[in-house]
Amino acid sequence: MSGQFELDSKEVALRARDVVVEYKRKHMPSVRALAGMSLDVLRGQVHGLVGESGCGKSTLGRAATGLVGITSGSIDFEGKPVKPLGLRPRPRHFRRLQMIFQDAHASLNPRRTVGDQLADALRRSQDTPSPDRDRRILVALERVGLPEAATKRYPSDFSGGQRQRICVARSLVADPTVIIADEPISALDASAQAQISNLLAELARDLGIGILFISHDLAIVRQVADVVTVMYLGKVVESASTDQLWAQPLHPYSQALIAAAPAHDGLGTLPEALAGDIPDPAIPPTGCRFHPRCKHAFERCPVEEPALLDVGERRRCACWLQAEKSWAGGESPQAPGGGSGGLVS
Ligand code: SF4
Repeated sequence: MSGQFELDSKEVALRARDVVVEYKRKHMPSVRALAGMSLDVLRGQVHGLVGESGCGKSTLGRAATGLVGITSGSIDFEGKPVKPLGLRPRPRHFRRLQMIFQDAHASLNPRRTVGDQLADALRRSQDTPSPDRDRRILVALERVGLPEAATKRYPSDFSGGQRQRICVARSLVADPTVIIADEPISALDASAQAQISNLLAELARDLGIGILFISHDLAIVRQVADVVTVMYLGKVVESASTDQLWAQPLHPYSQALIAAAPAHDGLGTLPEALAGDIPDPAIPPTGCRFHPRCKHAFERCPVEEPALLDVGERRRCACWLQAEKSWAGGESPQAPGGGSGGLVS
């Protein structure tokens, strides 16, 4: 890996390297949901992971918590390899790696009070019963903006946004280092979306938690993420700081995604739809996977696959146009060692 992007391993809480997740299918070609994906989540940072439905971003979140086994590559949480979940309870250390799902309603037990569910989560995260159990539950609830009275109530007594807050509180009692938030706002109304997104950004800033914020909503990601990784068909196509990406997206797919997001410019500018459908990951296009939809594609694109290269200060891009631009400028673009990518601090 190039030195420019080598991050201090003390800062990196979750590290994925060249992760492949392949689903076997009977009498049909296997599906590579992840085709060599690398990414670092740092403490205290919101890392946005974006891309269209089916690009593999949720698979990465599930693989990172052991809900899905990986075919090859590695995923480490605080330096220890994440193993697929089995029937045995998760090792306690990994309980500091928490996940929040899209459907808060389905994530909570409708028959148990909120207080009991938070107490269960606390018990599972500790070696010995916590003497200050009740206080910790109240602190977690307060942190997410819910009153003490919530402990006595059931999930059905709350709105969708409040239920997602309960899920966040439940993850907080485990004193997490990383929270993987998989489309945490998709099922919420606009005001609850903004509240939950801001809450997660506050947790990163105030408590130093690394948040992997998986979403297809670019407008929200732009508001809350410090860095963004853009995925297409199981691979990283670009990674950059949020400001860099919006100021100057380099990959044609990033450009198209940003153009397709509604703009709040007061001029009523309509978003530009991204042409074509995402291809079947079981039969990905040859060369650059994006070439059938790319308006800049040229002869080389369907033939050779571009590597993810360092293309500037803490940013990477996998596109022949960027590679050729660097070569024309006399620079030698660097491929991260071992094919790693998506590493932006
Ligand atoms: Fe488009 Fe070619 Fe770049 Fe792929 S490599 S994004 S097809 S220009």
